Amino acid sequence: MSIEMHAVCKSFGRFDALRSIDLTIGGGEFVAILGPSGCGKTTLLRMLAGFEQPTSGRILIDGRVVAGSGVLVPPEKRRIGMVFQSFALWPHMNVAEHIRFPIRAHKETPAHIKRKERERIDQVLDLVGLAPFATRMPHELSGGQKQRVSIARAIASEPSLLLMDEPLSSLDAMLRMDLRREIQKVHRETSSSVVYVTHDQGEALAMADRIVVMKDGKIEQVGTPSEVYLHPQTIFVAQFVSKANLVKGRWINNRFIPENSTDTSWPCEGTGSSFKLNRIYPVRPDQFHISSEGQAGISGEIVNVQFQGREYHYHIRSGSDHLEAVSSQPFRLHDKVTLSLKPHAL
Ligand code: ATP
Repeated sequence: MSIEMHAVCKSFGRFDALRSIDLTIGGGEFVAILGPSGCGKTTLLRMLAGFEQPTSGRILIDGRVVAGSGVLVPPEKRRIGMVFQSFALWPHMNVAEHIRFPIRAHKETPAHIKRKERERIDQVLDLVGLAPFATRMPHELSGGQKQRVSIARAIASEPSLLLMDEPLSSLDAMLRMDLRREIQKVHRETSSSVVYVTHDQGEALAMADRIVVMKDGKIEQVGTPSEVYLHPQTIFVAQFVSKANLVKGRWINNRFIPENSTDTSWPCEGTGSSFKLNRIYPVRPDQFHISSEGQAGISGEIVNVQFQGREYHYHIRSGSDHLEAVSSQPFRLHDKVTLSLKPHAL
């Protein structure tokens, strides 16, 4: 199922929650909507589901207008499945009944699924690893199992579009990793497009074909995980997605000279124009090479050290700036060091 959003705006009273969103999602694509709290992710998802009407602009699904220009196709006519952070299970239904319900209730469920309901329930139970739990009630399930039930319910009637709103954020770290894999498997084994809302950059980078980064109701950047991570086009994306340091300095003849540095200049390739305007250069913590004092590079002092298993995470004070760098080399608190860019970062 393909989706097109054209100049979609949504206002609540005088507050603009979405500002002129243009976005195309291809059939079978897994797209993550990534951004901080309040940036409009859920509003965008609710608009795709049909729970909200755009204030202006149009939404097309498979080339047909479903919202805008006086049209609003209701959720039950859109062949969508939804998964929420809160699971939203029905306390009086067991696991199998949760899966059977949409098969029977949705008018749009394909006839071949309605005909072979029992087989479909077993198939979905298998896909999400819940076959042994078919007769359990929600209160007899763990958090991870509950979320599997809600995924199973959402995919039961073979929706063309699966909308997921922070489905893992109420689960602990280990379970989140397991369920990431489960969701990827579900996506691979169905032909649904997935729109996955999250504020967790790791989740978006790990799972999505493309990431839409949002801020204050607007799209900041759209790209594959590696494009967004390696080539952030705005200061916000550099900080939010890549956790990059914003190194201050000067641009001279298309080269960047960082503050507090000696014998150092960096090229401009791949850096967006907003970095140039603001006289900063984005450098991820893993792009810095740390060496002892007196080399070519930015001079600083280590002011915090955290051991993280494979590497150390350092906070380095350089003039009035605080920079972050990771390295497998051990340095001590208050060591004077030099930061340079690793060759491949250049
Ligand atoms: P979070 O990650 O915290 O869920 P979000 O990115 O999903 O945030 P939205 O829920 O889409 O953000 O909300 C975007 C903005 O619109 C917020 O400032 C919110 O307060 C506002 N908003 C959302 N729904 C309504 C509503 N029904 N009435 C008024 N304001 C609303």
